[in-house]
Amino acid sequence: MSLPKNIWCIGRNYSEHAKELGNAVPTKPMIFLKSVSCLTHAAEIILPSYLSEAHHELELVLKFTDPKAGGFCFDQVALGLDLTDRIAQTQLKSQGHPWELAKSFQNAAPLTGFIPTDAAAFERLTFELHVNGEVRQQGSPGNMIFPPVEIARYLLQHFPVQKGDYLFTGTPAGVGPLHRGDAVKALLRRPAEERSGILIQQSWKIT
Ligand code: ZN
Repeated sequence: MSLPKNIWCIGRNYSEHAKELGNAVPTKPMIFLKSVSCLTHAAEIILPSYLSEAHHELELVLKFTDPKAGGFCFDQVALGLDLTDRIAQTQLKSQGHPWELAKSFQNAAPLTGFIPTDAAAFERLTFELHVNGEVRQQGSPGNMIFPPVEIARYLLQHFPVQKGDYLFTGTPAGVGPLHRGDAVKALLRRPAEERSGILIQQSWKIT
């Protein structure tokens, strides 16, 4: 599998999540990056030894086709966990410092496999995260503050976005800590009235 050159991420793209962390709802996309080398496709998520917990942020992840094509310039979707060291992030935020310490540690970006998508199919997706059998997060693109087309336009104004790059599209409300021993399950669905509603199902074990 070929790796992306960049992992672009959006913070606070669901208003209920912005509020739960005490942040204002943004008026333009808030961009940060995760390092490509923190991607993992393993079913076991090994936290760095110095961390006792990491917050789960389940997100729809889109893969760019030719970014200069404009419009919905993505052709595949996956689910990704934007794992976050919330304690470090809160400290860094209060100091006005960058977030990388909280966002780009080893294995901070667990990812499922990708499936094909287009603008119409993407719009109808729903996703959810279960931790130890309990639903923690649920989301759908309709609740995003900035839809992917708008994020792509904004990214291209500022950054050298490449074909094959990933976009973490932000997390819905319900973020919380994961500890060693937790069983995590992520589901991507299309509407219940359509055949075979589950498109992606991924289980992870935190160790
Ligand atoms: Zn996130």
